[in-house]
Amino acid sequence: MIQLDAVTKRYGAEVAVRNVSMELPGERTTVLIGPSGSGKSTLLRLIIGLTQPDAGTVTVDGQQLTQTNIRSLRHRMGYVIQDGGLFPHLTGRGNVALMAHHLGWTQDRIDARIDELTTLVQLPPDRLAQYPDELSGGQQQRVSLMRALMLDPSVLLLDEPLGALDPMIRTDLQDDLRDIFRRLGKTVIFVTHDIGEAGFFGDHVALLHDGAIEQQGRMATLVREPTSQFAADFIQAQRAPLEHLEE
Ligand code: ADP
Repeated sequence: MIQLDAVTKRYGAEVAVRNVSMELPGERTTVLIGPSGSGKSTLLRLIIGLTQPDAGTVTVDGQQLTQTNIRSLRHRMGYVIQDGGLFPHLTGRGNVALMAHHLGWTQDRIDARIDELTTLVQLPPDRLAQYPDELSGGQQQRVSLMRALMLDPSVLLLDEPLGALDPMIRTDLQDDLRDIFRRLGKTVIFVTHDIGEAGFFGDHVALLHDGAIEQQGRMATLVREPTSQFAADFIQAQRAPLEHLEE
């Protein structure tokens, strides 16, 4: 469970996140949508403590994030970004095992956990011996997901994890990811600017605009009953495949 209370983050004169309060209950997928620059990534970075709020608080599993507990709380959160963010000089296995090594896990424990995750994310096991630039985009994201899940975090944060993939690979991974989220029952926060993807994953959707929450709730409600012109425009802006064809 994550709670944001009146969180504001500024970069100079720019307000990236504006007085945002939200509750992200456990075992649910919350999707953050909104145009580029609306504050989605900053919100995730605030939750995982990569950046600190100028005002307001972030609470993870009942503990308020502070400079002193951020390291231990971060172990409860897995983070996946658009291009995977894998270390290029480490193999897939090296990337996945890095934090566990650091925390002093035994080799047997590491190997057993990696076997479990390889099956979960459906990665051919031999791929783990490759370096990131020897893997396809989809495989890199599967490795990145393994790395995020290695310590069995209670929270999973994904920042446009499928944004750089071509449509068919993306659809495959969407299916697998949704299945994984349901099976693991974690608190998932998923950022996308694709409303179709948001509807596919999201039990709960928050639309961001200019650093603030414009509307949140069920996807069906957002689509059928947008409460502002901006929300209506955002939904309208996504083109259906046949929309431009003249018959
Ligand atoms: P989104 O993820 O929705 O595209 P971001 O959270 O990346 O939006 O950015 C929100 C706003 O904050 C943007 O105007 C962006 O330029 C600004 N911003 C984000 N990160 C930084 C940073 N490290 N330094 C300065 N400005 C930033």
